[in-house]
Amino acid sequence: MGTMVQPKCKCNHEFQNLNLGGGMNNFMKSCSVPSPCFHCKDVFELNIFNKRHLCPKCRRKSSPLGEITTNPSPNPLVFEWGINFEDSSTYELEDKKYTCPVCMEEELTFEEIGCWD
Ligand SMILES: [Zn+2]
Ligand SMILES: [Zn+2]
Repeated sequence: MGTMVQPKCKCNHEFQNLNLGGGMNNFMKSCSVPSPCFHCKDVFELNIFNKRHLCPKCRRKSSPLGEITTNPSPNPLVFEWGINFEDSSTYELEDKKYTCPVCMEEELTFEEIGCWD
């Protein structure tokens, strides 16, 4: 039910695969999204529903990529996740370049590599 993505950057850092989304049972409470830590120089999965977003490794504040919106983006998406069916809010991760926590260049992209459940 989730999407597996591979973060990629032209600096060729070997990022781990990320499992985005959540399971069937907890999809309203749990949605993993990519979140870079510029201290650990890595990208982690964080639950977008958490009140505070902290790096799982160093516990510093982390800002998840993508956004929750009720306005569907016209741009291509790598990943989307229905958050609330009443107001039709959706988490969207646009298929664009993000700042890489390793080389700090705006060259980080996410490539869909499969599904998980
Ligand atoms: Zn960290
Ligand atoms: Zn990089």
